[in-house]
Amino acid sequence: MKYGTLYIVATPIGNLNDITLRALETLKAVDIIAAEDTRHTLKLLNHFEISKPLISYHRHNEETKTNILIEKLKTGENIALVSDAGTPGICDPGEKVIHEAIQEGIEIVPIPGACAFIQALIGSGLDTKEFTFLGFLPTNKKNRKAKLEQIEKATNTTIIYEAPHKIETTLKDLEKILSNRKIVIARELTKIHEEYIRGDIHKISQNVENLKGEMVILIEGRDLIEEKPFENMTIEEHYKYYEKQGLEKKEIIKKIAKDREVPKNDIYKLFIK
Ligand code: SAM
Repeated sequence: MKYGTLYIVATPIGNLNDITLRALETLKAVDIIAAEDTRHTLKLLNHFEISKPLISYHRHNEETKTNILIEKLKTGENIALVSDAGTPGICDPGEKVIHEAIQEGIEIVPIPGACAFIQALIGSGLDTKEFTFLGFLPTNKKNRKAKLEQIEKATNTTIIYEAPHKIETTLKDLEKILSNRKIVIARELTKIHEEYIRGDIHKISQNVENLKGEMVILIEGRDLIEEKPFENMTIEEHYKYYEKQGLEKKEIIKKIAKDREVPKNDIYKLFIK
């Protein structure tokens, strides 16, 4: 018995016209569609007048459903894997069944299409030659701190995903570690209210209240040449440098101490005088 094929099918991230002809052909041709949320995918299929048996495959049933899907593939059934939006496996379920299928010698065929971070990157105006995609920042304090430090040191573009209700907190966290780096928020991509908000982190984080919709945050890489602009500054110029960015006295003192690798108290004493 010849094994079936597992197709990994990208679907739109907003605008339904972004589905590819090949994705439609594949969805029509397979025996089963494995979907992150079957109700969500049903709307997409109805829109394109496709009728297929659906099977749910999400984060909480990945283990058991992987076994079921692998069994079906082994009996020769062709399966298309889709997520709610964009490319399966990219911050969406998929990894496990793909890994297992490869182990079992089942053919994998990815069908390319929309992916929010690629879309965000190409429209951002930031360096596209080298970039790091971090997905969602961890919520665990220690892991999050490590990722933020990674972003602070990065000399290439960093891309992160964020849920709308956490955008303010994340920007505040980024503001603490990035001096005046440029960031871009790519919002509601491919939808009616698509928008790219570009500027330095301080300006942007002051204007994000009530920002709605789906968002990708992109952070410009650290400039190697400009890495230590304060090196030739007097302590007063150093202070003004941060003051211009709208930082509070306490925060400025902390930053100067960090930049100059001296105790915070030494700087504090200078400015008390
Ligand atoms: N698999 C998807 C992909 O290929 O991009 C990503 C799914 S992940 C669960 C959802 C996150 O992707 C959102 O929180 C947001 O950061 C980003 N995202 C998805 N659609 C978007 C859109 N239309 N505009 C901006 N960001 C989007």
